[in-house]
Amino acid sequence: MDKLIITVATTGAMTTKENTPYLPIQPEEIAEEVYGAYQAGASIAHIHVRTPEGAPTMALDRFEETVGLVREKCPDMIINMTSSGGLGFTDEERILPHTVLKPDMGTFDAGSMNFYKGVFINSPTFLEKLGKAYIEHGIKPEVEVFDAGMVWNAIRLMKDGILIPPIHFQCCMHVHGGMEGTAKNLVHLVDLLPSGSTWSAFGCGPTANLIMAMAINMGGHVRVGMEDNVYLSKGVLAKHNYEFVEKVQRLAKEFGRPVATPAEAREILGLPPKK
Ligand code: ZN
Repeated sequence: MDKLIITVATTGAMTTKENTPYLPIQPEEIAEEVYGAYQAGASIAHIHVRTPEGAPTMALDRFEETVGLVREKCPDMIINMTSSGGLGFTDEERILPHTVLKPDMGTFDAGSMNFYKGVFINSPTFLEKLGKAYIEHGIKPEVEVFDAGMVWNAIRLMKDGILIPPIHFQCCMHVHGGMEGTAKNLVHLVDLLPSGSTWSAFGCGPTANLIMAMAINMGGHVRVGMEDNVYLSKGVLAKHNYEFVEKVQRLAKEFGRPVATPAEAREILGLPPKK
């Protein structure tokens, strides 16, 4: 097995201050939370931004400020920016921040689905535009799959030259509208991935621990943070995102899986080393 890559997803689009008062919203808060997670051993920062009032946004200036601060504080960390930002943004709004800021990675949601009370649209036209923009700007896609059909869609896009293998997948489990976060479902998803792929996984809410423990033991990588889950244990809110990273560190140590540094994570994912 490769060393374990830990991604931190501090903010997301759906978590609110009502879910947890500790959610980082402002660029400085997000960067500080990413920095704590980096010091605890996370090597990828999955970044969403919010308006000053806390609403999800794809505004370029909010990304510029947040990513700039993260790059200052965590120079070799892998930056992975969302290309959804929430629901309802135009194709252009979703792609623009990537073409300007050129993060190491960007999300690529391999299909459309119901998403809580809304609909998460990733049309074939959008995916083609996004895939080509990533190729043009040297951004590695993180292919997010929320159900099994999305893996098949990604394989077709790979054959069409929109995704270049080896693909890195993120198995997003227990999102309402997608696949339930169960052991069987994760095993099934991973079985479907084309050979040579790397993969990571998370389970939202109450499935976080199960999916985390399975991914560590199956040779996958893990994503943690308040985007997906706000509880450190039953009824106990995490005050900082690094607490989730520390939990992964404890489990990884117990299960005998060494954790990757950012430099090692770059090598595993086929990203160029940080100069
Ligand atoms: Zn996200």
